[in-house]
Amino acid sequence: MNKTERTPQADCYRDDPELLPVTEALRRIDAQVESISGDERVALRDALGRIVAKPIISPMNVPGHTNSAMDGYALAGADLSMDDTRRLPVIGTAWAGRPFDGRVPPGSAVRVMTGAVMPPGTDTVIMTEQVEELLDEHGDMIIVVGQGHRAGQNVRQAGEDIAIGDCVLAAGKRILPAELGVLGSLGIGEVSVKRRLRVAFFSTGDELRSLGEPLAPGEVYDSNRHTLYGMLTRLGVELIDMGVIRDEPDAISDAFREAARIGDAIISTGGASTGEADYIGETLARLGEVRFWRIAIRPGRPLAFGRVGDAMFFGLPGNPVAVMVTFYQFVQPALLRMMGNEETHPNPTVRATCLSPLRKKPGRVEVYRAILAQDGDGRPTVRSTGKTGSGLLHTMSDANCFIILPHDGESVEPGAEVEVLPFFGLT
Ligand code: AMP
Ligand code: MG
Repeated sequence: MNKTERTPQADCYRDDPELLPVTEALRRIDAQVESISGDERVALRDALGRIVAKPIISPMNVPGHTNSAMDGYALAGADLSMDDTRRLPVIGTAWAGRPFDGRVPPGSAVRVMTGAVMPPGTDTVIMTEQVEELLDEHGDMIIVVGQGHRAGQNVRQAGEDIAIGDCVLAAGKRILPAELGVLGSLGIGEVSVKRRLRVAFFSTGDELRSLGEPLAPGEVYDSNRHTLYGMLTRLGVELIDMGVIRDEPDAISDAFREAARIGDAIISTGGASTGEADYIGETLARLGEVRFWRIAIRPGRPLAFGRVGDAMFFGLPGNPVAVMVTFYQFVQPALLRMMGNEETHPNPTVRATCLSPLRKKPGRVEVYRAILAQDGDGRPTVRSTGKTGSGLLHTMSDANCFIILPHDGESVEPGAEVEVLPFFGLT
């Protein structure tokens, strides 16, 4: 088949003539995607961004020993007086990594540094600032401890952070900096993680040129593949960049076949709007099971979703802002599921006072690019970056958040509260 033979007006949206609510699109995607199988062992630092494959059980207590949380003096809580000051001789010092040798008899204290093992016979630490340090008549150190202390204070108990046998990281957990530290604190140098998800992606459009190519009139540089590269890299998947594919049935078929052969997921951009979608739709109908949806969201209305061979397919719109909005809304959660990430809480949104008037039609989600800041009292405020065209990628770069106006919501006046999805922490 070539372009001239394509069926005019073929309607690939016929299955869903109505606009599909965002929540319904998410539900349908969620019902289709599942975690890939296969895991591998990697060195601790290489596990950053990866997904835990099997529960990790702690081989030890953290902290390993009961230790002092402060620089100060360790003593027995029983030696504290409720109604009087106490004078105690200081019989030695315990350093972090150099314990006090011996047992502390009742009525004595040991100088301790933060992290030092609590000397046997003691269970309480008084901060240095809270004692009076004196020399007795023999020139030996004594401390004077006042009232108001609590037995057991300023001490970190062995196993208080993590106890031996605890499940420290459940399967499906994403390994971020805190998890690297936790595993390091347990002496774990290798981790079983899910294998990397392979994501093949390409841009479609006869007008698109790649870096280094000259532009003829009407041609534009492909930006979507670079944005996708950034978003996918942050997710920690294995990237297969298939370049720009021309709007030709054979080229499109070949690209999809190849992408399905090597990828667990395929992402294309462009050609999903009504003008071209029927034609990409026809190509895809022969290769897989794909549905074209008109989603009740702006920007980002057209979205294709389904399966090509064994790979999940996401056909995003062509407009660069719509690509980012649909990626974060629909593709990223699905890819995380496929990666084996089982934490279901979505990216948290915050509420902020909107400083800009925002026009909004009920019956669709509207996503504005915006800047989240604080007013003089430290309360969150948000204002639109202004222009709203879905081709104006620079407005994404000006923004640090999305304002998400809900499906049923109406226009917003300045001073109203809106829901904000910050860009930071999105991956
Ligand atoms: P389409 O969805 O293919 O109709 O494209 C919609 C608009 O987005 C058109 O103006 C395209 O030129 C533009 N567009 C499509 N793909 C890209 C891309 N990869 N990079 C930059 N602009 C694109
Ligand atoms: Mg196009």
